[in-house]
Amino acid sequence: MERTHRCGDMRGDDTGEDVVLKGWVHRVRDHGGKRFVDLRDREGIVQVVLSPEETERFHESEDLGREYLLEVEGEMQERPEGTVNEDMDTGKVEVSASSFDVISESETPPFSLDNEKTDEAREELRFEHRYLDLRRPRVAENMKKRHEFFHAARNFLAENEFVEVETPYLTKSTPEGARDFVVPSRNFGGNFYALPQSPQLFKQLLMVGGMDRYYQVVKCFRDEDTRKDRQPEFTQLDLEVSFMEQDEFLQMMGDLLATAFEDAFGEEFETPVERITWQEAMDNWGSDRPDRRYGMKLHNVSSIVEGSELNIFARTVEEGGVVKGFRLEGRAGELSNNDMDDLIDYAEEEGAGGLIWVKLTGEGFESPVEDYLETETLRELIDEFDAEAGDVLFFVADEKPVANEVLGSLRRHLADNVFDLAEEAEGYELLWITDFPMFSYEDGEFGSEHHPFTMPREPEKLREADSDDEDALLQLDADAYDIVLNGYEIGGGSKRIHDPELQQKVFDVLGLSEEEVEERFGWFVDAFQYGAPPHRGIAFGADRIFMVFQDEPNIREVIPFPKSKQGHDYLTDAPSPPREDQLEGLGIEVIETEDE
Ligand code: ASP
Repeated sequence: MERTHRCGDMRGDDTGEDVVLKGWVHRVRDHGGKRFVDLRDREGIVQVVLSPEETERFHESEDLGREYLLEVEGEMQERPEGTVNEDMDTGKVEVSASSFDVISESETPPFSLDNEKTDEAREELRFEHRYLDLRRPRVAENMKKRHEFFHAARNFLAENEFVEVETPYLTKSTPEGARDFVVPSRNFGGNFYALPQSPQLFKQLLMVGGMDRYYQVVKCFRDEDTRKDRQPEFTQLDLEVSFMEQDEFLQMMGDLLATAFEDAFGEEFETPVERITWQEAMDNWGSDRPDRRYGMKLHNVSSIVEGSELNIFARTVEEGGVVKGFRLEGRAGELSNNDMDDLIDYAEEEGAGGLIWVKLTGEGFESPVEDYLETETLRELIDEFDAEAGDVLFFVADEKPVANEVLGSLRRHLADNVFDLAEEAEGYELLWITDFPMFSYEDGEFGSEHHPFTMPREPEKLREADSDDEDALLQLDADAYDIVLNGYEIGGGSKRIHDPELQQKVFDVLGLSEEEVEERFGWFVDAFQYGAPPHRGIAFGADRIFMVFQDEPNIREVIPFPKSKQGHDYLTDAPSPPREDQLEGLGIEVIETEDE
């Protein structure tokens, strides 16, 4: 018989109708000679009533177990007074079954599908049987939200003249800074494809190819450790446009997200999305992905504390460093001296020489440096932070970048690990971070902050700088941007270099020899000799977006078939040893190492 309705779609307006449902037995309860079956499908659960009077072959319902798949025919009715369940979307109605058939029987499921919450303890078991886990309403909802987001994004992009184009998975290494997954080739023995870390180079070639506006919902592969917001295989909404400057592009991308977020998650965002520079982000929040919802903005108090009797403050300022701090509101009573010692250890591990704290109490203040902090200085500090009794002030005296970073980490540590400030913060905040530094510098080597194809804000300055001029190169800003949602980087991109000479200059700075460039990117840079358009793009990390809006503790919960923390696929047990004949065909021998 044809299904007439989905279980979870039943509302009061369907009463009196004859219905045919197909769904899984969520739960069975016997009551007053009747049998109540919660029947579940993708859209939710509805109550089905089986009774000896109304239901054919009622006696056979005795054997119904969890996850049996049923076809039910019956009438949609209002629930009798006093039995309405306000907690259920379908709680006003029930189906009085005239007949039922078992379509498929089920073994007892290995875990309960009842759980409305994400059960981290059962992760392994759930992912081994993800097909059962997917039946849980919460997981089904996550899948639907993925779909709704991509659907809305695709509509927006089609309206804005973007074309969806696929790029290859079996390809050459792409430079996103992670390790590649490689795939051995049978036809070219001893050679390997690399799975793309992103479609970066292909989407740029699409611009050279005149596609003008491209997008793709695409899998990316990076062989790196899994974290709560990262797994080796993930989905990007990837875009590239020609002939568009930063202003218009960021505006359009902000509109894209705001539209898709509202359609999929019902959350409204103001546009244009606010922009701050990377330097502002670091100076004010000590992070390039600040969650500003829980406050604790950094203040530079150097001018207040210069000349203070507190030597570490006075000396740092005198030597050209800074004293910066933030205010933690109302938690003084919850932090013991031991807790404070832990926070000092934390700051030191993060690279600070020390951490100074001041607790404001009703009577005055408490601090390990109270003998040195002049009343006048303290008064000015209190004014600066608008601080009140019960607050704690934290200070780091160091070079500016160190002070920023340590305070930024401490701020996040307090918000995520010590208190639940991020969890408790209300609403959603989107924020653009622009003008990232062009290069990083570590152990005598330059690296790209974004990737090597990123255009500097002022290309002339790069052209003029010597390839080893540390001062000049580290001053350069990139035309690169990230977008941050509640402290998560959910997207990043840049303007690309379309001038082969400038591109060569970047390769020089990065220490890539001509041979290396030819070998790794020759196929790509050649294209720029043939009338390359100015272009820019971005990629959004879709799984992170779903994690945040669906309030899940990690991205595995929103990925249809996730990998374990170690990148193991619980369901298929991949990775697994290849068959002998596969290895032979590939000309590969596996050498066992001791730690296996
Ligand atoms: N390919 C970059 C990434 O995956 C994004 C971009 O620059 O468009 O982060």
